[in-house]
Amino acid sequence: MVGDVMSVSRLRMASDGKGVSTLVAMYGCPLHCKYCINEACHETFIEIPEFLKKYDKGLMCEKEDYSDTPRALYKPKELVKVLRKDELYYLMTGGGIVFGGGEPLLQSAFIHEVCQLADDRWDKRIETSLNVPWENVEPLVEDLDEWIIDIKDMDSTIYKDYTGSNNEKVIDNLLKLRDVLKPEMFRIRIPRIRGYNNDELVEKSVLWIRNNIWVEPEVFDYYII
Ligand code: SF4
Repeated sequence: MVGDVMSVSRLRMASDGKGVSTLVAMYGCPLHCKYCINEACHETFIEIPEFLKKYDKGLMCEKEDYSDTPRALYKPKELVKVLRKDELYYLMTGGGIVFGGGEPLLQSAFIHEVCQLADDRWDKRIETSLNVPWENVEPLVEDLDEWIIDIKDMDSTIYKDYTGSNNEKVIDNLLKLRDVLKPEMFRIRIPRIRGYNNDELVEKSVLWIRNNIWVEPEVFDYYII
């Protein structure tokens, strides 16, 4: 098994939760947000066969300089070797690994293997939209310490206008996770999206999360460049 990894970004602070972390950005996303921060992630699976051919022939790029590596296919143990380089920082600061993207839950089997190989003392987090089948979510329930979830907007019409998809899976997954995770394992984020929602609509999403998931979400602004 290999993971299609967009980049590995080391020594991040204050951007992905507590402590020093390594962000592993995975290719692929089922959404098409109007203000997508990472359009390149949509190339994913079209190019995988080419990568696999090169990988099998040993033609993949050398991964000796592990900081900000370019796109590459990693076996789980190869990625753990990269992550281990910053173990001391994780242990000193309470940091660890953060899987982002794209939508990392599209590659949850790979993430599960990485988490199984990783040191128990590293914090393990994911940044996700949760817009995937529950089968992609469930294998990681026991693996991850924190779920950083960008729900966009709880209103299905706004969600569809902004992402091109409906949010039924997001709601279903949130409710299922609520029943298996401790409240402190959620970090739910609700963006103000210029041209799509407003303060009143954001407040409706906040209330839905409070009343149904029983945690206090964070509201933030998308900055459009
Ligand atoms: S969820 Fe993230 S990566 Fe996917 S389309 Fe939206 S902004 Fe882009």
